[in-house]
Amino acid sequence: MPIPLIFELNKPAVLSSHIPESDIPHDVPGLPDEYRRATLNIPNVAEPEVVRHFINLSTMNHHVDKGFYPLGSCTMKYNPKINETLCMLPGFAALHPHQPVSTIQGALELMLMLEEWLCEITGLPAVTLQPTAGSHGELTGMFLTRAYHAARNDERTKVLIPDSSHGTNPASIVMAGFEPVAIPSDERGRIDVDALREALSPDVAALMVTNPNTLGLFEDHIDEVSDAVHDAGALLYMDGANMNALLGLAKPGDMGFDIVHLNLHKTFSTPHGGGGPGSGPVAVSAELEKFLPVPRIKKVTPPCSAGGESKGGVILDWNWDCPESIGQVHSFFGNFGVLVRAAAYIRSLGGKGLKNVAEIAILNANYLRSGLIDVYKLPYDDLCMHEVVFSADNQCINGLKGLDVAKRLLDFGYHAPTIYFPLIVHEALMMEPTETETVETLDAFIAAMRQIDRETRENPELLRDAPQSTPVARLDEASAARNLDVCYIEEK
Ligand SMILES: *Cc1c(COP(=O)(O)O)cnc(C)c1O
Repeated sequence: MPIPLIFELNKPAVLSSHIPESDIPHDVPGLPDEYRRATLNIPNVAEPEVVRHFINLSTMNHHVDKGFYPLGSCTMKYNPKINETLCMLPGFAALHPHQPVSTIQGALELMLMLEEWLCEITGLPAVTLQPTAGSHGELTGMFLTRAYHAARNDERTKVLIPDSSHGTNPASIVMAGFEPVAIPSDERGRIDVDALREALSPDVAALMVTNPNTLGLFEDHIDEVSDAVHDAGALLYMDGANMNALLGLAKPGDMGFDIVHLNLHKTFSTPHGGGGPGSGPVAVSAELEKFLPVPRIKKVTPPCSAGGESKGGVILDWNWDCPESIGQVHSFFGNFGVLVRAAAYIRSLGGKGLKNVAEIAILNANYLRSGLIDVYKLPYDDLCMHEVVFSADNQCINGLKGLDVAKRLLDFGYHAPTIYFPLIVHEALMMEPTETETVETLDAFIAAMRQIDRETRENPELLRDAPQSTPVARLDEASAARNLDVCYIEEK
């Protein structure tokens, strides 16, 4: 049943007596007619009706608090509500970025702590919290790469990326003024090291690698890759969007990476989808630290005679004096609320808990893999990390495509997997269950995927006409993205 607009729930008798007459003059000189209001149009609705209205609206879209959300590459895990409560504490939420530094010592301490924890997690000695998305971290990393080579008077123009890379990778490379060059994957879905060696030259500034890669596979010869890249004088960059698979198990710094960005909104628990806010901290090796964005946080050494107390209570301060820094990459100091959530998440799980996150994420992805492998084609057939990429080739019969499988899943109450990415898998279905799902949820999802496979042969129109159970049927996706007034596809 369609949900009415709140204005349609209007019952004048409920509240009207509580709203005082407006004392703002109605006749504002020069106001265009279309902006004039004869009456104040606020719907009169009783509190329980308001609550029900918005709760009902909130269930029209799929979200991770409503049901399973196996969208690959996005780490759509359940985000503990305690993190929301903590970042909304007035001492955090009501801070103003122009406040005197003596009044934000707690915030600086939290940021410094988070920097130290992210150093520990990545195995690298320095971190900036300033970038506000994964892609923003990539761009920052590319600026750092440019600064590193420029400081050595070694102008380099190219950045290598595997052909399985996320679309933001080439975009960031181009934005930073480099030319992206694709390296093919081998038959195991890893970087083809021979092709890499051939592509390396004095022009190459860096290799940007996602590890585990977008096929959900660990780049198991990363040491060989690292040696080859460094022998050529280039830097090794890690897109750490898939860090959920490595927490507590392996450190990018130990694998030879010089620069790593993390997606706090994926791995470290901030609700995402719908465009933000996010956070993409960048960790770097000691050699690159001096190029990090300003301001950095510095510890103010109290004068010895002052008995350990520094002037005006300032123990931590902003450091703008970094002559080789690439400058600021964002206004102020990053998306602070996301940093608080990440700190709360790391603190509440601890080292053991974080390791457990990675282990269960890997276990869950392999559970899906083994539950579907006899029915859905697995082009790169190997134990996976936190996600698994099937192909819908077997289901492309009776005029059906992977898109139809994804749409049919909505009728079972699931969000669809990521489809048609990575590009090197034909009709890709990329699934990431995350560690927060139970075995019962995974079993039910596997059963739904197997039923959809049977329907491709026995009842293909169920897929062609899907979804039927959602508030709107199949949309013209381009129009739905560009016009808020979405249109239905009535017939195919
Ligand atoms: C999500 C993702 C990105 C981009 O991160 P944003 O925060 O969306 O900008 C980059 N690489 C990979 C592998 C990703 O999954």
